[in-house]
Amino acid sequence: MPSPERPRQFASDNWAGICPEVAAALAEASAGHAPGYGADAWTAEAVRLIREVFETECDVFFVFNGTAANSLAVAAMCGPYESVLCHEHAHLVTDECGAPGFFAHGTTLKGLAGPLGKVLPAAVTDAALRRRDVHHPKVAALSLTQSTELGTVYTPDEIAALGVVAREQDLWLHMDGARFANALASLGVAPRQLTWQAGVDVLSFGGTKNGMPFGEALVFFDSELARDFAFRRKQGGQLASKTRFLAAPWVALLRDGAWLRHAASANARAAELERGLRAVPGVEVLYVREANAVFATMPPALLAGLRARGWQFYTDVGPDGAARLMGSWDTTEEDVAAFLHDATSLARA
Ligand SMILES: *Cc1c(COP(=O)(O)O)cnc(C)c1O
Repeated sequence: MPSPERPRQFASDNWAGICPEVAAALAEASAGHAPGYGADAWTAEAVRLIREVFETECDVFFVFNGTAANSLAVAAMCGPYESVLCHEHAHLVTDECGAPGFFAHGTTLKGLAGPLGKVLPAAVTDAALRRRDVHHPKVAALSLTQSTELGTVYTPDEIAALGVVAREQDLWLHMDGARFANALASLGVAPRQLTWQAGVDVLSFGGTKNGMPFGEALVFFDSELARDFAFRRKQGGQLASKTRFLAAPWVALLRDGAWLRHAASANARAAELERGLRAVPGVEVLYVREANAVFATMPPALLAGLRARGWQFYTDVGPDGAARLMGSWDTTEEDVAAFLHDATSLARA
């Protein structure tokens, strides 16, 4: 086992532990017995809170992870001969090992190019119209990632414009919100403005990177799409027997706004890191930091020096081989200062 004093890293927001609110809620949910398969009080309260957050009567399903949330959403939207448009760097297409096609029995994904990790409306129209013949999969859905894989965010207007195009082309609109909280904290708008009011039909609402041990919620804003989804989740192996342990964390995060505090804190640390890195000789910050990810290119000696001092981070996530540095809910100002101190001293050496 690693030492309990192991330092926090900027490698990924899934390296962080369980936030105190969620840890307490899990302990509380563990006291005594409660019905299985979602017939418990935590599940009912978590659903109520999610409806309150989105200010609408949505259908909510808890699942274990993001790949399942996205893949089962794809299966709900598409038939085997249909396809989903998404950004070429979308987690759906790059990091889910073909799970969407597996769960949807053959549905394919088409990655579209677009600046800053975002899909452009014209690219959607073009892809939807390019081939309409039976030899090509029928385009049936569009999936957007919010915040994006490159750390940027779609504004409500950008999502609404994509929502219009999706409607015109008769496409379902899915949002991969593994970092929805970070996008929301960055934009300071109402959750409805980023989702159903902009045309989103189904959201994979991320809990893991917001301070849970695991757990995402699928939120359907279109009840027709949610019809029979309970069967699909069960068949897909994602119905938790002790569902209360997937639901109680949502109650803990949503009931007093902890989810947005954690996301805002992760974003703020990333912003400090970005500011500091811009002052380090030889470092170039890429894209636009809008949520909790900073991408930066550095001289190889600087990367090696940081790693030699124990810092861990990925350089194979984005398309440009840049270091990706993520703020997490528990990242402190001291963590950022320590990283910047090392980067600065190494760059000046
Ligand atoms: C982390 C992440 C997911 C979820 O991944 P799982 O490992 O399956 O939980 C989905 N989409 C994006 C953009 C992510 O960053």
